[in-house]
Amino acid sequence: EKPAAVRDTAIFDLIDRERERQLHGLELIASENFTSAAVREAQGSVLTNKYAEGYPGKRWYGGCEVVDLVEQLAIDRVKELFGATWANVQPHSGSSANLAVYNALIEPGDTVLGMDLSHGGHLTHGNPVNFSGLRYHIVGYKVNPETELIDMDEVRRLAHEHRPKMIIAGASAYSRTIDFAAFRAIADEVGAILFADIAHIAGLIAAGVHPNALPHAHVVASTTHKTLRGPRGGIILSNDPEIGAKLDRAVFPGYQGGPLEHVIAAKAVAFGEALRPEFRTYAAQIIANAQALAAAFQERGYRVVSGGTDNHLFVLDLRPQGLNGTKATKRLDANHITISKSTLPYDTEKILHGGGIRIGTPAVTTRGMKEADMPMIADLIDRALKEENVQDKVHAFASRFPLP
Ligand code: PLP
Repeated sequence: EKPAAVRDTAIFDLIDRERERQLHGLELIASENFTSAAVREAQGSVLTNKYAEGYPGKRWYGGCEVVDLVEQLAIDRVKELFGATWANVQPHSGSSANLAVYNALIEPGDTVLGMDLSHGGHLTHGNPVNFSGLRYHIVGYKVNPETELIDMDEVRRLAHEHRPKMIIAGASAYSRTIDFAAFRAIADEVGAILFADIAHIAGLIAAGVHPNALPHAHVVASTTHKTLRGPRGGIILSNDPEIGAKLDRAVFPGYQGGPLEHVIAAKAVAFGEALRPEFRTYAAQIIANAQALAAAFQERGYRVVSGGTDNHLFVLDLRPQGLNGTKATKRLDANHITISKSTLPYDTEKILHGGGIRIGTPAVTTRGMKEADMPMIADLIDRALKEENVQDKVHAFASRFPLP
């Protein structure tokens, strides 16, 4: 009944092992989620066999009449989801979507103002080893040392001082609402392009539980696999047709060849799921769970960066516990609790280790966990961090919640 597995047991045994790991563990990595069976079926389909360089109706290959319809559906659904007039669904990942934005809209050597990495920004927002940091002049804005919130006065000051060509709003480890309107006002003051990278919060925006970036940003890029709960991949959105045309060229033929139509089909399925009312309930539950979980940690004496969360994640400062991100990850991994280590704003630990951990609720919420289940998670993490073996308790707890 599983002919592929019979032919390649090495790989299919490992896939079974990974399924077991996902089933028995507690998944709290803020950028991960569990896709629906329909998303996985579309991605595993015969569409992977097809070359389709170009865009719907304008392909370099024959036989594209079906994939044209698939890609057009993905485009139409994502435009509806975010209220965009233009969309490109071909980027293979969030990073490649961001690469297209840089390539299309600014020149090497131009100044870019983005969130400092150790304060929550992403690699592609200017890390010195990433193309962004190598090719552009990056200026980083930091959070306020007291409130640990993005300080819009500081963003404005840096924008006027450095006159960036592009300002990036968006983060990988920031737990508060991002004020895209305020970013746009600053961008307009200095004549910069506002690029919103909504990779982490795309699902929350799609569901209307975080303010939308699109009415404000010139261009928006995202991954499709985090809170949005689709396959691994990227998208780019805009309401400006000229910017859209530049971005289409930047993706193909700019730096990609054939699009992954099977992944695009899976994206379309996920966008369809996100357009349904149940997705709004899901996204609201992600936030309710993150807030309940952050509060449960505070009750157990932990310090939550910025004192709480408005979205799907928060960062715990583990320095008061005498731990760092690396040590904590090890102790939690040993108990099948997965999180990611995180640097803290103005961290005193080495960047390699980070002073804390980032915890997110998109995946456990997909499994059906609610606010009342969050104290149990905080308890298991607290005990694992104190070097108690809670592996059996983690398995027993997780097994109560089905995977899609
Ligand atoms: N942008 C942000 C804000 C992210 O958090 C991430 C992923 O972590 C990306 C872009 C890049 O996405 P990918 O890992 O698909 O390249």
